[in-house]
Amino acid sequence: MRNSRLDRRTLLKNALVGLAAAPAVGLIRESQAAEVPHLDEKDPLAVAMGYVSDAKKVEPTKQPQFKPGAHCANCLQLTGKEGDEWRPCNIFVGKTVNAKGWCKVWVLKPGAKV
Ligand code: SF4
Repeated sequence: MRNSRLDRRTLLKNALVGLAAAPAVGLIRESQAAEVPHLDEKDPLAVAMGYVSDAKKVEPTKQPQFKPGAHCANCLQLTGKEGDEWRPCNIFVGKTVNAKGWCKVWVLKPGAKV
């Protein structure tokens, strides 16, 4: 009985410490995201994937899979903070992509519209 009380106390204490640290971790992640380099359109993987930092530059004749209205901000692969101009993408690890960009891997995010 006494051990289970201690265990509960320890769990509660650890949970409170964790909650207190959460905003600090968020700040660290945001500042780290700001330091992540932007994906260059000339990067070999970007070229292979047809990435452009502005979906308005996509030439539909060269990229027939492009759908008007498609861009990184409504792509399933985009992560990071909603509203940020440059955000991480699951495809281009270690780089950030422009929310207005596009590439061949684009997939509509559930609930989003083109
Ligand atoms: S996978 Fe999606 S978010 Fe990533 S660059 Fe391509 S279109 Fe943008």
